[in-house]
Amino acid sequence: MAISVFDLFKVGIGPSSSHTVGPMRAAATFAQALIDQQLLSQTRRVEVRLYGSLSATGVGHATDRACVMGLMGEWPDRVDPTSINARIQQLRESGRLLLAGLQDIAFNWQQDLRLLDESLPYHPNAMSLHAYGENGLLSEQTYYSVGGGFIIEAAEAASGIAPTSDVELPYDFSSAVELLALCNKHGLRVSELMMANERAWRSDADIRSGLLHIWSVMRECVEQGLRDEGILPGGLDVPRRAAKLHRSLLEIGKPNVITSTLSAMEWVNLFALAVNEENAAGGRMVTAPTNGAAGIIPAVLHYYMKFNAEASDDDVVNFFLAAAAVGILCKKNASISGAEVGCQGEVGSACAMAAAGLADVLGATPEQLENAAEIGLEHNLGLTCDPVGGLVQVPCIERNAIAAVKAINATQMALRGDGKHFISLDRVIRTMRDTGADMHDKYKETSRGGLAVSWVEC
Ligand code: SF4
Repeated sequence: MAISVFDLFKVGIGPSSSHTVGPMRAAATFAQALIDQQLLSQTRRVEVRLYGSLSATGVGHATDRACVMGLMGEWPDRVDPTSINARIQQLRESGRLLLAGLQDIAFNWQQDLRLLDESLPYHPNAMSLHAYGENGLLSEQTYYSVGGGFIIEAAEAASGIAPTSDVELPYDFSSAVELLALCNKHGLRVSELMMANERAWRSDADIRSGLLHIWSVMRECVEQGLRDEGILPGGLDVPRRAAKLHRSLLEIGKPNVITSTLSAMEWVNLFALAVNEENAAGGRMVTAPTNGAAGIIPAVLHYYMKFNAEASDDDVVNFFLAAAAVGILCKKNASISGAEVGCQGEVGSACAMAAAGLADVLGATPEQLENAAEIGLEHNLGLTCDPVGGLVQVPCIERNAIAAVKAINATQMALRGDGKHFISLDRVIRTMRDTGADMHDKYKETSRGGLAVSWVEC
């Protein structure tokens, strides 16, 4: 499957790509299909069934709300996040839902939105949607939300064949070995190779403007995160920290990265906290490559842009392209879904991607870049997904800050070497896949193990 940089970086809403963005897209796709099949006007009732991890942590991850918004015809990149609370409240009070934004039907939150204690084959994040008319079932579809906001339909999943794309890439690669060979054969940096591939979908101008738009949404997300204060929603009473930390860093003054590396790292922490607090609050953000791990790449890019007077928009574009090359490898050969392989797939992949992006703009050779990504991923192997209360807050928010700093350190270590190293990125990605397969389900976004059960509500 050909994967574009814009598949990995998508404008969406919090708090989860697999549990919020994917389900909203699935529900909106289903509503649109009712229009296309001319079934909308006959529809009297819809039912949503959530399975596996979508059921286990769906309420904490706002899966139920996302499904309802999708049924109303909203898409993650276009919905106004600030309007959702009021619209959900109105729906709950009235018991009416405007299907696809057009067809007024009754909707009973308890009966029509079912959280089932069972799993479907193929993937732990499964959901099915059913539309009924006066004489019974009109249409049904099962979707799998496979991480990063990607969804696939049941038939695709059952075929066992990855969804294909008609696009032929000039430099297609499925492993880091192939990527490095192509870079060396054609004398290309990783970002240059990725740019050539992206041209299979879009013009240079569209690639550039699209990636700069992604960057502007990331910056707005950080700025919003630095303004918002108070307690995060969901009931854990987790206080937001970014605004206070920002004030404190401003008082200290501009850090000097040469003499005070640690204070620069505090800014990295700040950027990650700001994004992940916004994500936890259901705000507008960029999936990178998932929502739970969405703070790492913006934090590292903010760090580069803030502390490098020479940084330019070209660097932003190259950073995203190089990061995407590693994201593609993780997605193709393992997973970026916490429900599939644990947090190593989310935070580990994002850490490796951020390290690769930073390495590219700092002038790394393809081998050094591969090394940076390998270090970033290797030291996240085995990381479990155990969100307390099913919310993307603890440990997720701090974990992003730690991984962002780790990504910078990985790049620094790789840049001190010549690219030769002990374990290849391909092997680490395979290890992530195998470790994920061995990992008990309770550590894969079910909130039934780890920190999720060590926390006791008072
Ligand atoms: S623990 Fe990791 S994978 Fe799980 S929800 Fe949090 S960030 Fe995502």
